[in-house]
Amino acid sequence: MTKTLFEQAKPILKTLQSNQYQAYFVGGSVRDYLMHKTIHDIDITTSATPEEVEAIFEKTIPIGREHGTINVVYNGEHYEVTTFRAEGDYDDHRRPNEVFFVRELYEDVKRRDFTMNAIAMDADFHIHDYFNGQQDIKNRIIRTVGNAQERFNEDALRIIRGLRFQSQLGFSLENETFYGMQSHINDIEHLSIERIVVELKKLTSGKYVANSFENLQRLNAFNYIPFFKHYNLNNFILDEAIPFTLLVALLKVQQPSIKGNLNDLKISNNDKKYISKLEKLLNQLPNIKSKSDFKILIYDYGEQDIQSILNYMDLHIKNHLPSFSPLIINTQSVKEVSKQLPIQSRKDIDINGKVILEAVNKQSGPWLKTILRDIELAIIDGDVQNIKSELIRWVKSHVEIQ
Ligand code: ATP
Ligand code: MG
Repeated sequence: MTKTLFEQAKPILKTLQSNQYQAYFVGGSVRDYLMHKTIHDIDITTSATPEEVEAIFEKTIPIGREHGTINVVYNGEHYEVTTFRAEGDYDDHRRPNEVFFVRELYEDVKRRDFTMNAIAMDADFHIHDYFNGQQDIKNRIIRTVGNAQERFNEDALRIIRGLRFQSQLGFSLENETFYGMQSHINDIEHLSIERIVVELKKLTSGKYVANSFENLQRLNAFNYIPFFKHYNLNNFILDEAIPFTLLVALLKVQQPSIKGNLNDLKISNNDKKYISKLEKLLNQLPNIKSKSDFKILIYDYGEQDIQSILNYMDLHIKNHLPSFSPLIINTQSVKEVSKQLPIQSRKDIDINGKVILEAVNKQSGPWLKTILRDIELAIIDGDVQNIKSELIRWVKSHVEIQ
């Protein structure tokens, strides 16, 4: 039951209350709880200042004291406790010029993005809902707290967040909210790409991505986002949840003449490597004409990544990506061939560079890399067994010819 996470955190609220402060659960956890969804992390909001929170609890970590956030460690769990905050004016469409700690819950929820995210719940599970968030949840509507034009003008990330929630929840956008997004879409170019990517990752993997992706297109949002702005996404179809990395790889393969720079996305090296691997793999698929090519493909890329591409075959076809033979490459055949591979990686070869050099009595050079690859291919193709003596014999005959 989702209530248990709140039950576990309840003593924190009670402790704050017994010290004469107000304290509430707020944000995504309350929204998800009201929707009977599983909740992951709990956010607590309080009238106590960060110093007051630190004074009350034994174990705290000042993770964002200047924004009012203190981590309270209770029963081994970490809880984010944030002081009620009001925001000053915004000049740059992304962050307030100043924030003030305040003592009223209303002031705090007023600065939150959407009505469904502005609901507070006290320790007794009583709801404090100043902006009819519950009604909007019931009607499955995403609506800004207050005037949409103003709220998106203050912080344009809310536009991407709204579409991300649409993708995750399947809600529709209230009219004024959509018009507000339209008026302020060009302000997203002032945002840091890191914040945009956090939201886009959640957006592409949402269950209802089809609608929100169409809205991104309708708003021409991609024109203002680094990397994406170089590509033409007008006709791209995204009607099922996919990892963000796959979307990037698909675009690169679909529009190869555009050389979008992955560095512009400021994603992790792992993400960059994975995208490049997917891009190469996707480009390789149409070249697979024989069983032998197929075995090498599986050896080079691994079963898992090939299977994950096969899971999105419909998308591949709808977006006119390079086609390949489903007779050779399909979920079943990938599984079978992968199981039959005599080696899984270079580490499994029963011979190494040193042994080869000794066997042929030749100086090391670029030929060594070539022969190692040739050995690999010969083993996979079944031309030679992965046994040291056999491999040495094979190397001797092949190196002499070269
Ligand atoms: P999730 O379940 O994905 O964590 P969430 O609603 O909790 O969704 P967070 O990014 O964790 O989203 O933010 C917590 C809360 O902070 C939100 O529910 C909202 O009330 C507020 N919030 C976050 N970002 C903004 C923003 N850019 N503008 C206004 N309020 C915001
Ligand atoms: Mg959250």
